[in-house]
Amino acid sequence: MDMNVSQLLRDPIGSTRDYQIDEVIDLTGEGNKNRIKGTCNFIRTQRSILVRCNLNTEIELSCSRCVSKFQQPIKIKFNEEFYPLLDAQTGTALPPPEESSAFTIDEQHTLDLTEAVRQYFVLAIPMRALCKKDCAGLCAKCGKNLNLGKCGCPDENTDPRWSKLADLK
Ligand SMILES: [Zn+2]
Ligand SMILES: [Zn+2]
Repeated sequence: MDMNVSQLLRDPIGSTRDYQIDEVIDLTGEGNKNRIKGTCNFIRTQRSILVRCNLNTEIELSCSRCVSKFQQPIKIKFNEEFYPLLDAQTGTALPPPEESSAFTIDEQHTLDLTEAVRQYFVLAIPMRALCKKDCAGLCAKCGKNLNLGKCGCPDENTDPRWSKLADLK
């Protein structure tokens, strides 16, 4: 997700560019390809380029209740500053950003979005994934996926007084 920003770095402060993103990349490093779509807006600030992205992708997750696999939509949204290592006008080196974890723009004026997208993608993955809000899960006794229908096990939640009545019948 390399963007050449040499022209934007030469433009006056406040100049902007909009980019339509539609790329397939392996964000997790596990060989799964993620298609990333959306928009990024770049703004030239006094000493950086402020990048605002609004991206969508999806990943395959296992439901934490019923363990079936499903596609989870993921929104990747961030505002991050990218600091140039070189002055685009003069070609002289610039002082590195104070924060060592800050994103940078390399000597070829390439702004690589991949690492920022990856970080915000990882943050957006739900800890407890559910295939649907009201997933019925698996039966604790027989393991049947209760989304597919009831199993034959006796209902654990039945009030014992009622089950006595049921026995009488
Ligand atoms: Zn489920
Ligand atoms: Zn069961």
